[in-house]
Amino acid sequence: PYSRALEIHKQHLSPVETAFFQKPLMLHQGHMEWLFDSEGNRYLDFFSGIVTVSVGHCHPKVTAVAQKQMDRLWHTSSVFFHPPMHEYAEKLSALLPEPLKVIFLVNSGSEANDLAMVMARAYSNHTDIISFRGAYHGCSPYTLGLTNVGLYKMDLPCGTGCQPTMCPDVFRGPWGGSYCRDSPVQTVRKCSCAPDCCQAKEQYIEQFKETLNTSVAKSIAGFFAEPIQGVNGVVQYPKKFLKEAFALVRERGGVCIADEVQTGFGRLGSHFWGFQTHDVLPDIVTMAKGIGNGFPMAAVVTTPEIAKSLAKCLHHFSTFGGSPLACVVGSAVLEVIKEEDLQKNSQEVGTYMLLKFAELRNEFDIVGDVRGKGLMIGIEMVQDKMSRHPLPKTEVNQIHEDCKDMGLLVGRGGSFSQTFRITPPMCITKPEVDFAFEVFRSALIQHLE
Ligand code: PMP
Repeated sequence: PYSRALEIHKQHLSPVETAFFQKPLMLHQGHMEWLFDSEGNRYLDFFSGIVTVSVGHCHPKVTAVAQKQMDRLWHTSSVFFHPPMHEYAEKLSALLPEPLKVIFLVNSGSEANDLAMVMARAYSNHTDIISFRGAYHGCSPYTLGLTNVGLYKMDLPCGTGCQPTMCPDVFRGPWGGSYCRDSPVQTVRKCSCAPDCCQAKEQYIEQFKETLNTSVAKSIAGFFAEPIQGVNGVVQYPKKFLKEAFALVRERGGVCIADEVQTGFGRLGSHFWGFQTHDVLPDIVTMAKGIGNGFPMAAVVTTPEIAKSLAKCLHHFSTFGGSPLACVVGSAVLEVIKEEDLQKNSQEVGTYMLLKFAELRNEFDIVGDVRGKGLMIGIEMVQDKMSRHPLPKTEVNQIHEDCKDMGLLVGRGGSFSQTFRITPPMCITKPEVDFAFEVFRSALIQHLE
């Protein structure tokens, strides 16, 4: 059946390179932080289906409420009301600070950011949008204009890429640099120490001002930032950089958008939302992935004022957004995070994990940088610490594959796919971190032999 499945995949499914491994993994079952393949092998899931399974695969409470709701009502479209929608709206809004109290329910992170972009323009009456180099905000044609990780692009043969024709008013702020050299964004971190150590925040602020000043009519509508860049390989900003950037955008009449698609719902441990770790208050927050523990749902949360201005110029409508099923799943996810104290677990186990994996930097010259916060950690691979060139993709692929063969699934990121991303479900335990560490270390030793 495995070879037949590969044949069907080749014939009928997207040819875009999406399978993670040379020998693609055929998954059959999941239980909390574990996944099982068709042959019964088990894998510790340290990537959560791209940072999405927040409380655990098939979490019994979430599954039970979804099953119950399936017997009652699945779908209404956004033109009808239903109780799960109102229960969820109350629960979610209670987790956000004033004045972020109005919720738009949609289906994916890309859709949420699309809507946020329209909101920013509707409210500010300006056109230009700023996103960072190295950002990932989605893959719809609109959000592709914001996305800027080397691996993601759209170059149509007719010459129409996502820039500039389809998204004429998007400008790139600085940042996006990782540890390795050759970074296409050329904002290379000077060292592998804490993000506020050697990095020249002032330099980035100057570059940010330049970006704001070169935007066509100097009419900034909005500024998008991930609290930590995820797809770019867990890239953190210098301390206070985001706070100053927010102030500069607001001085020019723009609104600030925090893309919490990866960083929200307690994953960073110290705070429920990533923006809180920067001591900023966004005007719009977008969220997806962990919000539904794998059930497709997403949201945009904003202020009553911004919501009102959008209502004036857009009849927003969603067939699936905020369905009864999505809302009961979303509510159950929030309850589980609270009942099982998962944000605290992210903090405790995440801190333990960062310290443990950071040891690898001393042991292996190819481990360039180990960084992150809570359960969002990046391990950036280089040829050696002197040159800081990224480890070639084929070599990173092999380490990745070896981890899988030893029962550990990790993610990848960065412009050269050179960074391993570690983002397990938030129910992960310290003994499981120890297991992952041993597997990862063995894969590195195997690589060097
Ligand atoms: N924003 C961020 C920060 C993301 O990481 C992603 C997905 N990787 C998106 C937006 C887009 O989400 P989706 O794939 O649900 O459209």
